[in-house]
Amino acid sequence: MTLLSVNTPTEELRRVDAAHHMHPFTNNSELEDKGARIITRAEGCWLSDSEGNRILDAMAGLWCVNIGYGREELSQAAARQMSDLPYYNTFFQTSHVPAIALSAKLAELAPGDLNHVFFAGSGSEANDTNLRMVRTYWQAKGQPERNVIIGRWNGYHGSTVGAMSLGGMKGMHAQGGIVDGIEHIDQPNWWLEGGDMSPEEFGLERARQLEEKILELGPDKVAAFIAEPVQGAGGVIVAPDSYWPEIQRIVDKYGILLIADEVICGFGRTGNWFATETLGLRPHIMTIAKGLSSGYQPIGGSIVCDEVAEVIGGVEFNHGYTYSGHPVACAVALENLRLLEEEKVIERVRDETAPYLKQKFEALVDHPLVGEAKIVGMMGSIALTPNKETRAVFAAEAGTVGFICRERCFSNNLIMRHVYDRMIISPPLVISKEEIDILIERARQSLDETHAILR
Ligand code: PLP
Repeated sequence: MTLLSVNTPTEELRRVDAAHHMHPFTNNSELEDKGARIITRAEGCWLSDSEGNRILDAMAGLWCVNIGYGREELSQAAARQMSDLPYYNTFFQTSHVPAIALSAKLAELAPGDLNHVFFAGSGSEANDTNLRMVRTYWQAKGQPERNVIIGRWNGYHGSTVGAMSLGGMKGMHAQGGIVDGIEHIDQPNWWLEGGDMSPEEFGLERARQLEEKILELGPDKVAAFIAEPVQGAGGVIVAPDSYWPEIQRIVDKYGILLIADEVICGFGRTGNWFATETLGLRPHIMTIAKGLSSGYQPIGGSIVCDEVAEVIGGVEFNHGYTYSGHPVACAVALENLRLLEEEKVIERVRDETAPYLKQKFEALVDHPLVGEAKIVGMMGSIALTPNKETRAVFAAEAGTVGFICRERCFSNNLIMRHVYDRMIISPPLVISKEEIDILIERARQSLDETHAILR
C-alpha cells in the first residue's frame, strides 16, 4: 500500500477514505461521489484543507477547540508526559500525578461543593458513568426503586448506549438499544414549539413538565434529571429566562439529583467557567469533556458534589475505563486550563468578544430569512424561516434549507453547522473582533445566496 500523507493528491485521499473509513453521523455512501473535505492543518480559528482553502472554523471543531488550534504548549505537554509516563491506570488503588493534579484543579474551578472527579475518555462515557453512578447512589442510600432518570427530547448526551438513551434524539432512538428506566420531557424551544405563549409563559410550562413527569412516575421513583444548560446539538436552544429557576425549584422540592451536562457549555463557552454559573444552577453532577482539553486529547469526566461522592465512596463502584484519567490526556487538559486561566481567555470572552459577537449576531435578524437569533457567550443560533411573523417552517422537509445554507457557508470558507433549519455557531474562544467581522460577513453572504436559491 502506498504511504498516504498530506501531499497525496486529494482525489486519492478521498477514494481511500470512502473505501475504508466509516464516518460518524454520515450516510457513507454519499462520500463515494462527492468525497470528504480533507483538513490538513489548523492555526487559531483557521483550518486549511487539501485543496489549499483557508476556512474560518465557527464551530471550534465539534464545539471543543476553545483555546484555538496550533498551541505548541499543548503538544509539548503531551510529548513530556509521553516520555515520563505514557500510560498507567487509576484502578486498584493506584494513581499518578497528572490525574491527581487535574482533579484538584477541576475541584478548584467548579462551583459549590463539586469537588470530586471521575474521569472518562469522552462526554458519552462520562454520561454513562452518571447513569450508573446515580442509580448506585440511590441503591447505596437504601432506595433502589429510585432509578428513573428524566432527560429531554432533542437533548444530546452522546452516542454510547446509555448516553444515547439519556438524550432525546429520536433518530438515534429509532435505531434501537434504549436503556430501560429513562423518560423524557419536551425541550424549551420557544421558536418552534411556543405557539401563542410568550417565551416566559412557555419556559414555565416546559419546566413544569418536569414536575408533572415526577408526579406521574411517583417522586420516590425518580433518581435524577439530566439536561444541557444550553442545548447544543439540538440547535443551540437557549431556554426562556423563566425556565431554569423553575427547574431548580422542582429538583429541590423532590430531592432528585440534577446532572448538568456541561460538555459543550463548560470551560468558558457561555462566558463563565461553567454555564451553571451563567444560569444560577446548583447541579449535583456536571458532565465535562470537549473544552477540558480543547479537543487536543480525548478526555471527559463527571465532577461530583461532596454528598454523592461520599455515598459512592462508601461502596465499591464497579465501573471504570482503561483510559479513565489517562496521564497524557490529563497533562494536556491541565496545560489547556493553565492557558485559559493565565491568558484570561474567559474574561475576554465575557467582557469583550462575546458582547461584540452578540451585537453583530443578533443583527442578523434583519435578514429576510432569519426569524430569531439567540446567543449566549460563544454559542449561538439563527432560525431560518419563510415567515418571521408566524414563525413558519419551510414547506420542504425540515433541514433542507439549513443544508443549503450550510453548503453555501462551506463554499464561502466558513464552517457553520445546521440542525434542521437552524444555523449554529460555536467558535474558538480566542476568536478576535476582526475574525468575528469576517464570520458575520460570510454568514450574511451565505444567507443571501441561500435566499437567492429559494426564490
Ligand atoms: N454531551 C453533550 C452536551 C454533547 O454535546 C456531546 C457531544 O457533542 C456529548 C455529551 C458526547 O460527548 P463525546 O462526543 O465526547 O462522547
